[in-house]
This record gives sequence, C-alpha cells and structure tokens, in this order.
Amino acid sequence: MKTATLIIDGDRIATRDHFEVRNPANGALVGKAPAATEDQLELAVEAANRAFETWSQTSDAERRDACLAIADIAHANAEELAQLITAEQGKPLNGQGSRMEMGGVEAWARNTAELTLPIEVLQDNNQGRIELHRKPVGVVGSITPWNWPVMIASWHFLPAIRAGNTVICKPSPMTPLSTLRLIELINTVLPKGVLNGISGCDWLGAAMTSHPGIAKIAFTGSTDTGRKVMQTGAATLKHLTLELGGNDAAIILPDADPAAIAEDVFWRAFINNGQTCGAIKRLYVHDDIYEPMCEALVAYARTVTMGEGSNESTQLGPLQNKAQFEIVSAFVEEAKQSGARVLMGGKPWDSAGYFYPITLVADIAHGTRLVDREQFGPALPIIRYHTIEEAIDMANSTPYGLCGSVWGRDREAAKALAQRLRAGSVWVNRHGNIQPGIPFGGVKQSGIGTGFGVDGLKEFTEIQVVYA
Ligand code: NAD
Repeated sequence: MKTATLIIDGDRIATRDHFEVRNPANGALVGKAPAATEDQLELAVEAANRAFETWSQTSDAERRDACLAIADIAHANAEELAQLITAEQGKPLNGQGSRMEMGGVEAWARNTAELTLPIEVLQDNNQGRIELHRKPVGVVGSITPWNWPVMIASWHFLPAIRAGNTVICKPSPMTPLSTLRLIELINTVLPKGVLNGISGCDWLGAAMTSHPGIAKIAFTGSTDTGRKVMQTGAATLKHLTLELGGNDAAIILPDADPAAIAEDVFWRAFINNGQTCGAIKRLYVHDDIYEPMCEALVAYARTVTMGEGSNESTQLGPLQNKAQFEIVSAFVEEAKQSGARVLMGGKPWDSAGYFYPITLVADIAHGTRLVDREQFGPALPIIRYHTIEEAIDMANSTPYGLCGSVWGRDREAAKALAQRLRAGSVWVNRHGNIQPGIPFGGVKQSGIGTGFGVDGLKEFTEIQVVYA
C-alpha cells in the first residue's frame, strides 16, 4: 500500500490529509492519495508560472526532446504503471487494458515530439511582411476522468509542454495514483515546475477553473461538469478545450454480414467495459438482419471472460466505481420495465467488486435512458430500424456528437451515410479507432475544441501576428 504525494516544482510534497483509493474488483486498499489544500494549489500555480518564464523560451528542439524523454519514461516504467492502473481503475492488464493504455502514452509522446508549428508567412511583398506566430498560453490546468486516467492526462500535458506551456494536472479522485506516479517519474527528465501533479476532491477542479494564475483548462469528463467548467472559467476568460461525453451510434446496414462483424462491433462497444467516451453506445440494426445480428453478438459475447483485471486471462474487469455501477443497473432495470428483451446479462454479480455482466438489450426504443443517455458501462441497446432515414434521424437525435459509424458491404454507400452523422469522427466498418496525429473532438454537446495532431497542438497556443 502506497501513500502518494503531490508533485510540485519537481518535489514530492506531503499533505496532511489523504483519501483512500480502492480496487473496484475487490474493495482492497490500493493506496492513499494526497488531498491538496488551497495553499498547495497556490504553490503549484506559483511554481508553474515561474517555470513558464523559462520553459516558454526554450527552443523547438528542446521541447521535442522533452516529449521523447517522456516517451522513454513511459516505456521504461510501463509495467509498474500498468499494474497500478489495473489496481485502481479495474481494467485488465491485457487486450484493450492498462498495458495498451501505457503503449498509448508512449505512442502519443513520440508523435507529439514530431509535431511542429512553423511560422506562417501571411504576406511578403512590397507592402511589407506579415507573419503568424504561435505562442504558448501560460499555465495549463489539466482535469481528467477515471476511465483512461493516464492516457488522457498525457493527451493534455504532451501538447501543452510541446507548445511551451507549463502544466498542473488534477486526476480524477477515483484514479489519482497512476497519474501522480507518472508525473513523479517524468519530473526526473523535465525542469522543475514544468509538470505538476495535485489531487483532491472535485472542489479542486473547480478552484483551478476559476484561478487567475491558470490561463487554460484542458478538461476531459462529463458534459455536465464541462458546463460547470465553462461557467467558473468565464470570470477569468479561460481558454478551454472540452472533451465531453458521447452517446455514439453505430448503424448496421442490411447488406452487412452479422457473423463477420460481430466480434469487431462487440469490442468497439465493450472496450474498457463501455467506459470509453468514443465507444458504441447505441446499435441500430436493420430489420432484415436484426435477429442474426443479435444472435451473432450473443454468440461472441459468451466467449468473453470477465474478472479481476490483474488476472492475465481477463478480458473485461469491473465497473470503476459505485456510482457508475448504480447508473448501469438502473438503466437496465428501466429498460426491462419498458418491455425490452434482455438477450444476456442484466443482473449485477453478487460480489465484493462492481461487476456488471455483459448485457445485450434488444427490442428497445428511444425514450429509455439506456438509449437516450450515456450509459458508460457494459450494457448495449440494440435498436431495430426499417429505413435508412429513420436510422440517421435516430442516430442524430441526441445532444451528443462525439463519434459514429456505419457498417455494410458497400463501402461507398456506408461512407456517404457516415458523413450524415453529426459527430466529430465517423468510421466505415470500424469505430473509435483513434490514433496519434489525427484530430479528435466532439461536436454538439460532446465538446469544444480538438485534440491530437497539429490542430490539437494549436489549442495550446495563442496567435501573435507580426508586421515586420
Ligand atoms: P466527471 O465530469 O465526473 O469528472 C471529470 C473530472 O472533473 C474529475 O477529475 C473531477 O474531479 C473533475 N470535476 C468534478 N467537478 C468539477 C468542477 N465543478 N469543476 C472542475 N472539475 C470538476 O467525469 P468522469 O465521470 O470522471 O468521466 C466520465 C465522463 O468523461 C464520461 O461522460 C465520458 O464520456 C467523458 N470522457 C470524454 C472523453 C472525450 O475525449 N470526449 C474521454 C474520456 C471520457
């Protein structure tokens, strides 16, 4: 059992108070996380602002090297961090689990290292030369959720540091230990104060969003909290990137082959137990192939092993926390009451952990929370449709717009339909396959701004136009 500390100005800072972090698979104590005080937030803001004076003046090559050094740290410590992620988050070590998450940190670090923001020459003629420069914004506050704790933190701090900003990370109180440990390790290769880590309850996030010493908030979390971040950030006109909730639709066209796609569709919905912003959360299946698609999904799902993430053969772990467990349980219960047909699962395990079985729910319609809201768990509603127009209308009928997909043999027809989905990223015969360097972000109430690639890097800069 470990007692973690804050990481401020390159130092490990102990706190008077701590909070417990427990393994969602069995309730065991994983460690104690530091509960930062307001004074310690001030210390972090001062350190990050001090460091900004010099870090913002470093060369492009130095910042590139810093990202490569972070990649090496992630690589060298991948196993220790993967074990910690699994212990506090619950996800399996293998498959789409914590080892993959650490691979993601390294991959994003190497990719971010190679991104550049060259000076753009807007005009160069006898009337003069005009250049567009990109400058860092200052101190970035990073606020992250519990589903991919370390990878999402890296999606914030990597582009921030690459663009010349300094950072204060606040992980979710559900999963703070792996992020704090990664930040501690990274501090061995960065100048003091460039990357700081603090933890505490939700008030700390709110305090960051209203702090005048923080210039920008990179927030990933629920749409409801995103609204609060906008509200409290308004007083100091915070620069904001908001990566929020999703209720992704996948449309299966009548020419799709259920047996051939079932495994892929399953994993794009059940990745991390459905606790992924860009997972399939509503499956629309044409009436012609509705029953074969349901049968193929059930047949594949029966082969998947759920259990403690630390077991090497586990493919899906528990839900991460009690609140999420209760949301999923309540949504499925309500679906049953509405007359929906539970094809498998539908009853929580009787165990010490937050285990909810793989649940496939057929003959369900809009008007139930399992369809209308973000379930963020291993319960997939399968909705029948008769016409393509009906499917597109239903898919677009929520306030969310993160990702979407269309599956069918005629790739061109599927692509044309995918482009009619109101979502930031759409796929044909795939879903949620994000990668470093390719922009990612939500439309509608799924977010503001973009992550990854040069577009994502620009989010951590301000424009300065130079008339020379
Ligand atoms: P959450 O909104 O409850 O919490 C996210 C973070 O915000 C936590 O660190 C929390 O402590 C902090 N917070 C809480 N109240 C705050 C406030 N008033 N001001 C500032 N910060 C505050 O989200 P969660 O339950 O941890 O994560 C799940 C959600 O995250 C889902 O909706 C999921 O779709 C979303 N998500 C989105 C993306 C994306 O890229 N779009 C990626 C992952 C997760």
